[in-house]
Amino acid sequence: MIKVFKFGGASVKDAEGVKILASILSSYQEGQILIVVSAMGKTTNSLEDLADLYAKQNPDAHQAFQEIKQYHYNILNGLFDDPQNPVFDDIENAFIEIDWILEEEPHPDYDFNYDQIVSIGELVSSKIVGAYLNSIGLKTKWIDARGFIHTDNSYREGRIDQVKTAASIQSLSETLVDQFIITQGFIGGTSENFTTTLGREGSDYSAAIFASGLKADSLTIWKDVPGVLNADPKVFGDTKVYSHIPYVEALEMAYYGASVIHPKTIKPLQNAGIPLFVKSFTHTGDPGTRIDSESTFDKSFPAIILKKEQVLLSLRSPDLSFIDESVLGSIFSTLALASIKINMMQVSALSLSICTDYNEAKFSRLLKQLSAFEIKYNTGLELLTIRHYTRPDIEKLVSGRKVLLEQLSRNTAQFVLK
Ligand code: ASP
Repeated sequence: MIKVFKFGGASVKDAEGVKILASILSSYQEGQILIVVSAMGKTTNSLEDLADLYAKQNPDAHQAFQEIKQYHYNILNGLFDDPQNPVFDDIENAFIEIDWILEEEPHPDYDFNYDQIVSIGELVSSKIVGAYLNSIGLKTKWIDARGFIHTDNSYREGRIDQVKTAASIQSLSETLVDQFIITQGFIGGTSENFTTTLGREGSDYSAAIFASGLKADSLTIWKDVPGVLNADPKVFGDTKVYSHIPYVEALEMAYYGASVIHPKTIKPLQNAGIPLFVKSFTHTGDPGTRIDSESTFDKSFPAIILKKEQVLLSLRSPDLSFIDESVLGSIFSTLALASIKINMMQVSALSLSICTDYNEAKFSRLLKQLSAFEIKYNTGLELLTIRHYTRPDIEKLVSGRKVLLEQLSRNTAQFVLK
């Protein structure tokens, strides 16, 4: 039985978390398990800030880097009593990669620098966890994901070469026989051996790729929530855990922005027929959520997905001509080229309204490209999606809010809210 386990940053945010991870693994002694870890805690955010300071050649970069190192040394000290343990040198060496980068002038491609710096978070995290597992007698082999997840050189959103990657990962099954394997989520390597990342929150996707390459029996994502909830508990009270979700429903939820699973994660699993479990890291006995091809799904309560930082853009032809198919075609290709995803849209005779995530730089570039149109837009909006809604659900969630755009289909209600 081959299993893939993925542990996110919140699970390995401190020494205590690493110890819980180890205790989970020790209860699965007989399985063959490959472990994918994220960077510890909020390290990816801190490394992003560091990459930014470095790109601007801001001297604060050195202080920011010191803080990141110190955070990891504190975790190391909480896990290893013996300061002679080789892991201390190993981590120091991993961080030296960043020292070397900081000494050089930034590469003109921001995204290239970003990937070389930010990937260190996952490398360091997996080294610490791997060394700890070995130190308590759980035999574990550390492998570098960059030699297995092969991508093109689209930095910050590396596209995986599926065939080459699957072949590399397959070769790992022999290694798994008498030991665990630990590797990194989120990172890949190009054919010239440069590091790429797969997009924020990309570790779930990495785990799905490893699971599919290994033809694993299951993938389990261990989280700080009891499973997939019907709404974000930080925003809505009274949330419920789904015990089962069909792949197609999970894809829909991810598409509308449910943050619990990375949208790209489901597809490789669905193709290979591998079930995905989302389980609580702290309440390991709880059943959690199972996602697979069975169709049972509890629609007795709605799935509520709220996306913040939205912008609503309205385009109109200045000469009051119709927004016909060829005009729509050219608008869509402009959006595709700018990699802007439409979250919701509505067409009327003379205008097109589009709701998308707001990214200042991308958006102002887009405005220039669409300057042939009369443009109006509103930022700071929220997009509320309710799957399997009832009228009272809408009443409860939308009343008292200013609705700028709404759309109801049989299963899904969407509202752009001010
Ligand atoms: N560490 C990366 C991030 O925070 C990838 C991941 O955790 O999924 O986005």
